[in-house]
Amino acid sequence: MALDQGTTSSRCIIFDRAGNIAAMSQKEFKNFYPKAGWVEQDPEEIWSSQLEVARQALLSLGENAAERIAAIGITNQRETTIVWERQTGKPVYPAIVWQCRRTAGFCEKMQDWQGRIQKKTGLRIDPYFSATKLAWILDQVEGARERAERGELLFGTVDTWLLWNLSGGKIHATDYSNASRTMMYNIHTLTWDEEILEYLGIPLQMLPGVQDSSGFFGETEKACFGRKIPITGVAGDQQSSLFGQCCFQPGEVKNTYGTGGFLLMNTGERCVDSKNGLLTTIAWGLGGKITYALEGSIFMAGATIQWLRDKLGLISHAAETERAALSIPDAGGVYLVPAFTGLGAPYWDSHARGAIVGLTQGTEKTHIIRAALESLAYQTVAVMHAMREDSGVELKGLKVDGGACANDFLLQFQSDILDLPLVRPNCIETTALGAAYLAGLGAGYYKSREDIAANWQPDREFTPQMLPGEREKHLKGWEEAVRRVRTEKETCGEQQRSADRGGKHAFLT
Ligand code: ADP
Repeated sequence: MALDQGTTSSRCIIFDRAGNIAAMSQKEFKNFYPKAGWVEQDPEEIWSSQLEVARQALLSLGENAAERIAAIGITNQRETTIVWERQTGKPVYPAIVWQCRRTAGFCEKMQDWQGRIQKKTGLRIDPYFSATKLAWILDQVEGARERAERGELLFGTVDTWLLWNLSGGKIHATDYSNASRTMMYNIHTLTWDEEILEYLGIPLQMLPGVQDSSGFFGETEKACFGRKIPITGVAGDQQSSLFGQCCFQPGEVKNTYGTGGFLLMNTGERCVDSKNGLLTTIAWGLGGKITYALEGSIFMAGATIQWLRDKLGLISHAAETERAALSIPDAGGVYLVPAFTGLGAPYWDSHARGAIVGLTQGTEKTHIIRAALESLAYQTVAVMHAMREDSGVELKGLKVDGGACANDFLLQFQSDILDLPLVRPNCIETTALGAAYLAGLGAGYYKSREDIAANWQPDREFTPQMLPGEREKHLKGWEEAVRRVRTEKETCGEQQRSADRGGKHAFLT
C-alpha cells in the first residue's frame, strides 16, 4: 500500500505483486497563500486526508482488506516543513510548503555559504529546501527555539509527520532521500551537519533519525486500519518515481512531466558534484548502501499547457495540444520560453521572465501551442546535457511519466530533439509504485530488485527520426530565445567560484 502525499492531494494506491493497481483513492486538500510568494498547508489536513484515502482504498477491496496488506510505503512532497509538540503531536505552525519563498531574503544573505552548502548537502542555497523554513519557524513562533532546545518540539518533512501519526507518536524518522532535501544533511558523512545547524540555530534533538529508504520503520497503530501494518518503505516523490521506473543502473534517467518537470539520473555509488547547475541528492538507501542521483528541475512543464488553457484560452483541454501540434509541420520558427517564475536548471535565473519569440504575420495559434509543447522538450534537453557533462556518462535513453507524457507528439519530439530513445511504461503511477516497491523489498515481499524489474513493462517506445541538421537548427533557436530572456549572463561556474570565496554571514537577526 503506497501513501502518496502530494502538494495538492493525498492519494493511496494499493498494488498487487505484479505492480498492477488493485485500488486507488484520492482527496484534494487546500493550499493557503497568506502573502505573495508564501504557501502553507494545514498539517492536520495532510494527515486526515491521507488516512481517509488509505481507509477508502482498503474499503474498496472488501472486508478485512487490511489483512492482505504486506506493507506500507510512504512517498511525499519533499522539503515541506512541519514542527510539532512531542507531547501532544500538535503542530506549532502551518506546514511551510516547498514552493514557499518567504526565506528568499534569508537565503540571499547566506550566499557566501554557497560553496560550503553545495559541498556538504549537494544543494544550492534556496528557500525551496527545509533548513531555512525550519529556522524561520524557530525564529518567528514565540518561544519555539527555546522549546526546541528543551526537546519539546520535533521537526519533520511530510514523511516524518505521517510516520509519527500512523504510529501514534512512536516513530520519529525519515529516510536518506528526504533528509538529503533539507539542506542540513551531509550527504557524504550521512549525518545532520552540525556546522549548518549551528549557523541556523537548529537544535539537533528536534531532528528525526535517518535510515534506509527500504527497511522497517515501525508499525501503524491498530486504530488506523484495524490491525498493525508494518511500514517498510519511505522516499521523497521524485526519488520514489526513479525507483518505480526501475532506474536501478547508474546512467539511467527518468523525467516526470507534471506541473513542473523533474529529471533524475541514477549515478550509483558516485556522488557527482555538479558544475552545471544540477543538484546532487540521495536517490535511496538500500541494504546499507547509498545510491546517489543528479537532479534537474524544470519549473514550468505541464503548467505551460495550463497557461495556454486558462490564461490565453487557446485550448479547452490539455489533450487538444497534440492534434494542434500535429496539424503543422513545425513551429514556424516560434519559440516559447516559459520563464514565468524564472528559469530552473541548468540556467538558474530567478529574475528571467517568459517570452514568445520568432513571431511573423504568418504565425497562427497552432504555432504557439506547438512551441509551448516543444518548450517542455527543449528544457529537458538542457538538463540532460548538463547531466551528461557532470557525470561523464553517455546517456542511453529516457524513461518518462507524469500527466503530460500522455502526449505522443511531445514524446516523439522529445526523442527527436534529444536524439535518444524514450520509453513510457505501462504504469505511469511511478511515484506510488516506487514507494510500494521499496516497502515490498523492506518487508521481504520481494526478494530482490531483479524481482521488481521483471514487472516493468513498456507501453510505447519512441525513437529519434529527425535529421541532425534540423535538430541543430532547433536547438540553436531555443538557446537564442533563452539568451534573450536571461538577466544573469554569467555561467554557473562563475557563480560558484565567487560563492566559494565567501565567509560566514549572520542572517537570523
Ligand atoms: P502533477 O502531479 O504535477 O499535479 P500531473 O502529472 O497530474 O501533474 O500532470 C498534469 C499536467 O500535465 C498538467 O499541467 C497538464 O497541463 C499536463 N497535461 C495533461 N495531459 C496533457 C496532454 N495530453 N498534453 C500536454 N499536457 C498535458
